[in-house]
Amino acid sequence: MDDFRLSFEFFPTKTEEGTRKLYNTRNQLAELNPDFFSVTYGAGGSTRSNTIDIVTEINNKGINAAPHLSCVGESKENIKELLQHYADSDIKRIVALRGDLPSGMAASAGELNYANELVELIRNEHGDKFELEVAAYPEMHPQARNFEDDLINFKRKVDAGANSAITQYFFNPDSYFYYVDRCQEMGIDIPIIPGIMPITNYTKLARFSDACGAEIPRWIRKQLEAYGDDTESIMKFGEEVITQMCEDLVENDVPGLHFYTLNQAEPCLNVWNNLSLW
Ligand code: FAD
Repeated sequence: MDDFRLSFEFFPTKTEEGTRKLYNTRNQLAELNPDFFSVTYGAGGSTRSNTIDIVTEINNKGINAAPHLSCVGESKENIKELLQHYADSDIKRIVALRGDLPSGMAASAGELNYANELVELIRNEHGDKFELEVAAYPEMHPQARNFEDDLINFKRKVDAGANSAITQYFFNPDSYFYYVDRCQEMGIDIPIIPGIMPITNYTKLARFSDACGAEIPRWIRKQLEAYGDDTESIMKFGEEVITQMCEDLVENDVPGLHFYTLNQAEPCLNVWNNLSLW
């Protein structure tokens, strides 16, 4: 298991208290010796300075930090400036994305339309300076014309120079296994790391899953609905479901796990500590 990759994702908060909580979460998860922490980026640059500050703080404390960088709504000049800043700050890995502009924000300033163009720009500007992660969608990106098209578009990012990929979260491991098989058939051989979303709250999860195209299987949805406001039961059931899924993934030799922490340590720590496979 030496080359198994473990990583955790945070989002930049707007308040001092939120940032303190984030660093506390980081300290707890650092005990697991992850390969890196990643920090999301608000498309169109809405979290630009917060993302930079948090990534810098984490990197300075000795664990690799990987900023997410989305290209939608951004000028090439802006992106190049940010890349130079990361290069000067000893950042080694970037999660390169297209992003989704918040409704109401005009995309007119944007010069890059898709993530493969961003990967290409980063490689042109900085060669192999950065390890590049891209997004993968075992259940298909919601705007893709169809599954096959989405696979071809995923391959564009790999051909442009992505080193590895992190998937959108899913609750059905078969969708991940099928996706990886199809990628292999197309000659895609980069590691595709499952993105894991702990289940802690039904309403938010349902809303978010609808938007990003992740399917909550009926048996999970019905059970969560039945718990209503009973947070304790939701957490307990969620932990069981996610632990079982991670065990299934690890038993099938996935190259790593990437947790969407939502800035909370405990749900991830519980799942990790439950895994009986190490
Ligand atoms: P792309 O790979 O560009 O794909 C977008 C759509 O366009 C797909 O439907 C694809 O099939 C199609 N497509 C791709 N290339 C082409 C092409 N050349 N020609 C025609 N069609 C094409 N969002 C944020 O705003 N900030 C974040 O920090 C963030 N982090 C994320 C981290 C992970 C691990 C994941 C999985 C998602 C993240 N997102 C983030 C969400 C992501 O930005 C959205 O899902 C977005 O809609 C797509 O981004 P992408 O990089 O996958 O886009």
